[in-house]
Amino acid sequence: MNRFFTAVREAGVVGAGGAGFPTYIKLQASVDTVIANGAECEPLLSHDRANMVHHPDKVVQGLGVLSEAVGAKRRVIALKEKYTDAEKALAKCGDSFEFFSLPDYYPVGDEVEIVKYVVGETVPEYGLPLDVGVVVNNVETLMNIADAVEGVPVTHRYVTVCGEVENPKVLRVPIGTKIIDAVNRCGGVTTGKPKYYVGGPMMGRMVDAYEPVIKTTTGIFVFPEEHFLIWKRSLRIEHILRQAQSACTDCRLCTDSCPRFLLGYDIEPHKIMRTVNFAMEGMTREMMSAHLCSFCGVCEYACPMWLSPKRVYEKTLDFLKGEGVNFDKRKRELAEHPMRKYRRIPSSRLLFRMGLTKYDVVFEYDESDWQPEEVFIPMLQHIGAAAVPVISVGDKVLRGEVIGEVPAGKLGARVHASIDGVVASVNKSGVVINT
Ligand code: SF4
Ligand code: SF4
Repeated sequence: MNRFFTAVREAGVVGAGGAGFPTYIKLQASVDTVIANGAECEPLLSHDRANMVHHPDKVVQGLGVLSEAVGAKRRVIALKEKYTDAEKALAKCGDSFEFFSLPDYYPVGDEVEIVKYVVGETVPEYGLPLDVGVVVNNVETLMNIADAVEGVPVTHRYVTVCGEVENPKVLRVPIGTKIIDAVNRCGGVTTGKPKYYVGGPMMGRMVDAYEPVIKTTTGIFVFPEEHFLIWKRSLRIEHILRQAQSACTDCRLCTDSCPRFLLGYDIEPHKIMRTVNFAMEGMTREMMSAHLCSFCGVCEYACPMWLSPKRVYEKTLDFLKGEGVNFDKRKRELAEHPMRKYRRIPSSRLLFRMGLTKYDVVFEYDESDWQPEEVFIPMLQHIGAAAVPVISVGDKVLRGEVIGEVPAGKLGARVHASIDGVVASVNKSGVVINT
């Protein structure tokens, strides 16, 4: 166990850019290369870029800690080539790392794509970057690692708040802040019938305005009710399946654009649409390929009929989980598609097709220290086991105090109070703190 392991585990650090894998696990790896992911996969998201501009020293410090922990000789900061301001700021922090400039295509910030760009290797099907000697961490995770080593736990996160809001911002918020409070901190909504989205426009989901920000929340989007994305995401799965049966022309444009297919993975979304026509009976190769889908949404973008192989894969995966069917872990040789580099999707074209161009503005950076009147802090915010509350109703807590502990022997992350206040309610799903 290396010297940083305990500090990172006790600070409750999880991957800030994805599903939230507890970071201390990655610190036990032994790899050649560590990549700081500063590429922001989803369109419109800007907090990673802003953090690299405003806290370059912390990003580099976290990268140093991680590299030392895993024994990596090569340290890379991968960012979009258009992030010249971030590169300039980071360049002032020494020469212990190298830059890798990525083209502005979607989904370039996906870690499988980044690994392919930076080390030239394809992460195996059902595998991890570790399988090719790489650890990838988002830049905000690296900042949290740097804080953890100084004894500062994860209590806040940076989110991009945009869309129909008065002052779109990169905003630092206490964990547990309600979406609506974060939006109001940005001047409130500018549309009569707002709908809220978290994550990103391609992979995100619609949420209630009172849902809390958690350690893995990257973006908060406000769209008008009539926006294309809201219409599309509101479609019920029964409708999606009927559409697949009746309107799919088998043109295979979805497959020809699928980033995983282009890397050589055994996935062909046009075929899952055919499978729907056979009422998903039996286990087919097409159904098993749901395990390989990254849910990036490129197939929805590519489909001339606006159909959604991605949603069909989501449904298929649920079905497979329900049946207890796991993936086949046999490793195959992967051959990159010869047309891969010509089929990438420029972010600007994606924004235009999704009706998002008008929201692509310069975001104010607001990390002022504020706290809402109430936070709800969930005990499970990531992959792994839920934490167990260790406080009671009526307790006074200070920001940074432990309020949830990882059950013994389980993979999980500690939870800390994000504001000073009084515990108003406690149950196994989470803790409410009032100021
Ligand atoms: S969401 Fe669509 S494009 Fe993306 S990996 Fe899955 S099938 Fe391929
Ligand atoms: S692009 Fe659309 S219509 Fe064409 S095969 Fe895929 S789902 Fe069917």
